[in-house]
Amino acid sequence: MTPMMQQYLSVKAQYPDTILFYRLGDFYEMFFEDAKLASKELELTLTGRDCGEAEKAPMCGVPFHAAENYIARLVAKGYKVAVCEQMEEPSQAKGTLKREVVRVLTAGTVIESNMLDSSKNNYLGAIYLDDQAAGLVFCDVSTGEIHVSFHHGVSLVEDIKNEVARFSPSELIVNYGVTAKTELMLALSGLDMPRPESIDEMLFDYEKACVLIQEQFASSIEELSLSEKPQTVKALGATLAYLKNMQKNDLQNISSIDISDEENTMQLDVTARRNLELTESIHRREGKGSLLWVLDQTETAMGKRLMRSYVENPLTNLNAIQLRLNCVGELFEQPELLESIRESLSDIHDFERILTRIVYGTANAREIRALGNDLEKLPRVKSNLKTAKGRLMCEINEQMETLEDVLDLIDRAILEEPANSVREGGMIKTTYNEELKELTEIVNGGKEFLTKIEEEEKQKTNIKKLKIGYNRVFGYYIEVPNSYKSMVPESYIRKQTLANGERYITGELKELETKMLGAQERIYRLEYELFTEVREKIASQQERIKKTAESIANLDVFSSLAYVALQNGYARPIVNETDRICIKDGRHPVVEKFLKESPFVPNDTLLDCGENRTVIITGPNMAGKSTYMRQVALITIMAQIGSFVPAKSAELGIVDRIFTRIGAADDLSMGQSTFMTEMNEVSYILKNATSASLIILDEIGRGTSTYDGMSIARAVLEYITNKKKIGAKTLFATHYHELTELENSLDGVKNFNIAVKKRGDSVVFLRKIVKGGADRSYGIDVAGLAGLPAKVIERARQILKELESNEEKPTIVKAAPEISSEPQQMSMSAGAESIAAERLRNAALDTLTPLEALNLLYELKALLQ
Ligand code: ATP
Repeated sequence: MTPMMQQYLSVKAQYPDTILFYRLGDFYEMFFEDAKLASKELELTLTGRDCGEAEKAPMCGVPFHAAENYIARLVAKGYKVAVCEQMEEPSQAKGTLKREVVRVLTAGTVIESNMLDSSKNNYLGAIYLDDQAAGLVFCDVSTGEIHVSFHHGVSLVEDIKNEVARFSPSELIVNYGVTAKTELMLALSGLDMPRPESIDEMLFDYEKACVLIQEQFASSIEELSLSEKPQTVKALGATLAYLKNMQKNDLQNISSIDISDEENTMQLDVTARRNLELTESIHRREGKGSLLWVLDQTETAMGKRLMRSYVENPLTNLNAIQLRLNCVGELFEQPELLESIRESLSDIHDFERILTRIVYGTANAREIRALGNDLEKLPRVKSNLKTAKGRLMCEINEQMETLEDVLDLIDRAILEEPANSVREGGMIKTTYNEELKELTEIVNGGKEFLTKIEEEEKQKTNIKKLKIGYNRVFGYYIEVPNSYKSMVPESYIRKQTLANGERYITGELKELETKMLGAQERIYRLEYELFTEVREKIASQQERIKKTAESIANLDVFSSLAYVALQNGYARPIVNETDRICIKDGRHPVVEKFLKESPFVPNDTLLDCGENRTVIITGPNMAGKSTYMRQVALITIMAQIGSFVPAKSAELGIVDRIFTRIGAADDLSMGQSTFMTEMNEVSYILKNATSASLIILDEIGRGTSTYDGMSIARAVLEYITNKKKIGAKTLFATHYHELTELENSLDGVKNFNIAVKKRGDSVVFLRKIVKGGADRSYGIDVAGLAGLPAKVIERARQILKELESNEEKPTIVKAAPEISSEPQQMSMSAGAESIAAERLRNAALDTLTPLEALNLLYELKALLQ
């Protein structure tokens, strides 16, 4: 193999799982399998290169200045790209140029704006799991955030899954313990994210992790309260080691850790996040139609990211909630100030992420200029905070600096419209540096001098059409058309013959050229030096700039919440530590946005841990049961985020968690039927809910036979309502009217229904929640409204009538005062007689074979015994 190819192969051997971009002059080339893959993925022409062997090496390449887009496309498809640069100038090298990988780009570690979604954080996730516990880490290098958590106990798999869903990482690295745990891998595969990648176990080494953590955060494991959590230490160490390998720098922008604070944030599992459509709608999987879509009226990318994190992490600490509400309230009460703030924020760019690229030395002069343009707007933003009163508003004001010194540096050094490349000049103002000024004068002066030479030569030779030009091969030359050839003086040296003229050089021209090109070269190098110096000076102020970016994000979020509250007629909730949820005229924040023809009908809610613990809601399909229950959950979440709420008034005792069981979505990807999914969700709720939780149950037991389903629904309700078991506030919608009898037999149960009016054969939805159970189910009426053929509806009514006249109402066995066994082992005997009766009633006697009949008899007997 040629020496260059040997070098290529030795670099590639160090980065086997990446596509290697190998710098060759003005191109990045790929070889062998990488070339075949990249040519397919990027639609590049596959060629070959002599590599010293009989067969050419497959090769494809991209121009170096266009590489970022190609790399972005590969990273978006989930590939890792290693960028290998020439580490010396071709003029200085002897033999093969020295080359090194300077960065590896992966989905979870990129910092380039064209590879990132500005409205979201971009997390790299890491999990270390052993047979005791798990440590999880999520790091967004583009903003410098890092979150860690520790999990153990009975719901370990679910807890890991929920935490991963909360951060939704774009890359997840794990130890062998994770990939070996089938149950966990199955759970993770149900989430919308790339497959976990098992990395070198050495990266999880505890001792190494301790050293890395100490270096990065200047704190020991004890100081970070991680000494009891070795799994978290290992995951954190692996994250830092992996990032360093990818970035090839010391991660200067990651300086503080956020340790997961379960006590102060509402724990929401992935089911609740999805069902309540916090950040995306269930059906279309898009932002529109989610709570975030309503609340996010932020003006900046930094605000947008923070708003998402607010919606994903409601608080449970009263004081923190009050502080946020005060801040929103302050802006809500001053609409003019609010408008002025929002206007002042409106054209601020994402300088938080630009800062990261400045710190990592990858930002170009345009990005630094963009930072300068943003800094110019800070005084106007800050002037709006002069009258700030509340604690958070004052903190924002204090944190926000106007950074005049940084702006001044940028203004003095960087041109208004600088070049994109950092190696070809055109970035620095000549007034910034004396030497640069002199060199520029030489280049410019040279240009003037060239015009002078041209004039003089014309005079001297009398060749009117003589002109001076430049090309890369000969440098400056004098061109003379063929018709003047005879007048050319002897001193001219002929260099090139064209169809209609000749090109010459002269001694004087060459001398000038050497001086000019020398100056130009020096300008390129000097500008690069000056530029990196300016970039480093700005990087040294990263803490101040970062704080300012954070205060902009906070101000933007609070302004957005106040703006949304004003636009939509929200009220400030009273949040306290009681167990009450008392809402007057509550509305669903998203559904009300979609209604066009009729206004949203507001409804009241009263829930507590006493008399009004469990509300059973009946009413026809389409009446609005789901909407009502979700609205209660969303209003609670909004208040705990610190937002005003869609209601006339609301008093909300803080809830620790919200659980949901809504709809019947098959999770076939996880190999589970509708009914199994439902039962898994219910079982998770029963294991994890507390008396401070809010539970939303929209139908339970619909995926099995009527009596099975009703028995399960009832037993679950009894368990949740029981103060000795859970005693949580619960909204329970059901089509099993029989369950409304529980109001009489169980303490804390109240019946409500969503009213409808019967008009002839049709129904009119009133959307109003009223006390009492629904009289009947109206399913057939609603089916009629949905357009089922009249014949089918007519026949259904006939069948219903027959069934109702034949059927003795299923009797509900009196509630056992307390269920002693665990919920998973609920006894089926309660409905055995009813089940036997139903089996018998449904048996098609005309078609049964004698053997089948005997079997049926046997089965019924077994049931009754
Ligand atoms: P099902 O039992 O079939 O699941 P449901 O009773 O849960 O039905 P929803 O899905 O909550 O009914 O509501 C159906 C539609 O009724 C909603 O999509 C919405 O358009 C409308 N709706 C619900 N509540 C209200 C309300 N309070 N005001 C106005 N429209 C409403």
